[in-house]
Amino acid sequence: MNALSWREALRAGAARLREAGLGDDAEADARRLLESASRLEAASLIAQLNAPIPDQEAAHFDALIARRAAREPLSHITGSVGFWTLDLRVTRDVLTPRADTETVVETALASVSDRNAPLAILDIATGSGAIALALLSELPNARAVATDVSAAALAVARENAARNALSGRIEFIETSWADGVDVPFDLLVSNPPYIASAVIETLEPEVKDFEPRLALDGGPDGLVPYPHLFAEARRLLKSGGTGVFEIGYDQGEAALALAQAAGFENAMLRRDLGGNDRAVAFTRD
Ligand code: GLN
Repeated sequence: MNALSWREALRAGAARLREAGLGDDAEADARRLLESASRLEAASLIAQLNAPIPDQEAAHFDALIARRAAREPLSHITGSVGFWTLDLRVTRDVLTPRADTETVVETALASVSDRNAPLAILDIATGSGAIALALLSELPNARAVATDVSAAALAVARENAARNALSGRIEFIETSWADGVDVPFDLLVSNPPYIASAVIETLEPEVKDFEPRLALDGGPDGLVPYPHLFAEARRLLKSGGTGVFEIGYDQGEAALALAQAAGFENAMLRRDLGGNDRAVAFTRD
């Protein structure tokens, strides 16, 4: 039996993460990893914090802390992340769903006048499936088509549909953007890669060393996907249908200009909880 208590192990783990540069996240991440190592829910773990931690759990916890100290994302270590009300599986093949992206979900939902309507949704470059699945979870009679150019990403998205009991209402298509898709939709959503290529090397190690470049790299100015996405919106949105695309915090003006150039004069920006421009939304006449 280890001489350390669970609490002491937690403290040591958090200290190691702080040294690794995790700052304010160190404590919460260490807790999450201790839950994972113990396979206990937070409440049960709290109840036994003063008890000695068995050797096997201590070793497992140390191994998880070492991975996080090497700046592997928490979502990759635990294998999942919460997004909207869903629990989503995450691997190296998909962008980890971020709270910022809930802005896209909220904006799309706000455009829907009847949540029970049989809406058709298209999610271009779906990755983990986060946006499409969150929308389906709120729109009980909607159906979605979700595309991705990565077969490995689609495998994760399929698993997420099954995990959230939504497989029956979503179809996955392996294709570039919306190539080959030719039915009209009520809602078109996308979180494309939008980081400028040169900026990627300046991002946190969790992002630049562990997340797929394919899901991040938006070309020289980060805006390369948008003209094509707006053109696809003209082609695929029904009259009165709404499009919502995620954008970078500093891309609002450029995104509006691109929307207007594509004929979406009613395009508007939406902010995330941090107060940054995060989505461009528009309606097809
Ligand atoms: N928001 C993500 C980041 O800043 C990037 C998402 C994207 O390119 N679609 O890391």
